[in-house]
Amino acid sequence: MTYDVLIVGGGITGCMTAYRLSGYKLRVALAEAADDVAMGATKANSAIVHAGYDAVPGTLKAKFNVAGCAEMPELARLLDVPYKNCGSLVCAFSEEEMPVLQELIERGEKNGVPGLEIVSGERAREIEPTLSDNVYAALWAPTAGIVCPYELCIAAGEVAAQNGCDFYFDFPVERIKMAEGRLVAVSHGREIAARFVVNAAGVYAAELARASGEEDFPVDIIPRRGEYALLDKGKGPRVRRVVFACPSERGKGILVSPTVDGNVIVGPNAHRVDSGDDTSVTSEGLEEVFAGGKKLVPGVSSRDMITSFAGVRATPSTGDFYVKPSERIPGLLHLVGIESPGLASSPALSHAAVKLLGEMGLALEENPDAKMTRPPKIRFRLLRASEKNELIKRDPSYGRIVCRCETITEGEILDAIRRPLGARDLDMVKRRVRAGMGRCQGGFCSPRVAEILSKELGIPLGDVTKKGRGSEIVPRDSESDGELGG
Ligand SMILES: Cc1cc2nc3c(=O)[nH]c(=O)nc-3n(C[C@H](O)[C@H](O)[C@H](O)COP(=O)(O)OP(=O)(O)OC[C@H]3O[C@@H](n4cnc5c(N)ncnc54)[C@H](O)[C@@H]3O)c2cc1C
Repeated sequence: MTYDVLIVGGGITGCMTAYRLSGYKLRVALAEAADDVAMGATKANSAIVHAGYDAVPGTLKAKFNVAGCAEMPELARLLDVPYKNCGSLVCAFSEEEMPVLQELIERGEKNGVPGLEIVSGERAREIEPTLSDNVYAALWAPTAGIVCPYELCIAAGEVAAQNGCDFYFDFPVERIKMAEGRLVAVSHGREIAARFVVNAAGVYAAELARASGEEDFPVDIIPRRGEYALLDKGKGPRVRRVVFACPSERGKGILVSPTVDGNVIVGPNAHRVDSGDDTSVTSEGLEEVFAGGKKLVPGVSSRDMITSFAGVRATPSTGDFYVKPSERIPGLLHLVGIESPGLASSPALSHAAVKLLGEMGLALEENPDAKMTRPPKIRFRLLRASEKNELIKRDPSYGRIVCRCETITEGEILDAIRRPLGARDLDMVKRRVRAGMGRCQGGFCSPRVAEILSKELGIPLGDVTKKGRGSEIVPRDSESDGELGG
């Protein structure tokens, strides 16, 4: 069969585009190299919905960031994803840094960012009391926010799937070829045909363009790794706003920010790496991250770190997003070089992608049967006591706490497994409901989650994995008793 549109890459760019397209009468598919959506940069970033003062006026980054930031609160509501409009501060530590703040406010005003203000260090500390006494002045951007990036991506994919989009996982597209007037994505002997293809392959998007015959593709992608530390809830300073230092030629620099789930995140640094898959974390990297974080918020401490991670930026050699139909391959649309602010931009970038596909000849007839929301998720820990009691009476599985650190119930885990794009391993459960995200990092709840997965998916415990094939958690030869301790 031939799809109307095939999207290559299941990060926020691909999934948000699939979400938009699923509102039309179209046959849409998404091919993803990994075994889940949100496995690239979308899984490991700062989660900031930037206000839009950083991007150079006139660029696609500026345009999509400002529009995306404006749409994000409503989109997060429709997709039932945690979002918080907490605002952000860019801090200057001396008079010498004031021209940087001045340039940012001017850029922001040109980009159409509302409410920007340069405030004194004193006022900045009123806005964010954990801030260093050495902060001299700051740019206050009240429209900035935070979101859960992988949940946003999973939710967009889930709604697309609910509306009929087919997802092909473990499908690394080697190249796109033309055959009999169609485009065909080839992956190790398997093929998916479509009339239009969207290249949203993140750090590998330029490589895919070249492998498909665009040897003269005008953008190179430079992979740049950013390392992070995640701090324990309730420990250390209670940071409520996103706090940046002044940007440099290496980017926005190390920040300290709350997460929508109540932790504090510190990072990222920025180092060029050889591979787009290099998400390793080094002790030197973490030292750099804490040194940068402490300068802004002196109370942050590596003692409070519960985990670390890294993401790889798909930095385009041109400096801007490359959002254009292929000059060589009719029907192929490139969404390439989507580095920061790609998350914040995703609501607007996906609208632009659909518009471009329309201009390329895709018929866009709205589907009145499509539902652009997903059924609300029960977040047990956020309910009032009376609501919890009612819920447990209706469904006793919500009365069984599986993850004690994050207060996640069996009912929530079952729901995560049963939804479209449902969880099939421990890490998928973790990204969908936070079981294993807390202080013990799954030390207590993993055996119980594995048992639930085994029972619900009807697979032996020995086949349950942490993150896909090769990460089985019970050695094959001890499978026989089918029990896990803990
Ligand atoms: C350290 C860091 C901090 C950031 N902070 C922010 C921030 O605070 N705010 C913000 O707005 N943005 C931020 N960003 C940028 C943001 O994370 C990205 O712009 C966004 O996630 C890009 O999404 P994507 O879907 O284009 O790419 P990805 O999320 O990388 O997704 C691409 C997908 O394509 C798949 N893929 C690759 N090749 C193939 C292939 N050949 N076949 C099939 N599938 C393939 C990959 O497996 C992956 O799942 C940050 C990024 C990093 C790395």
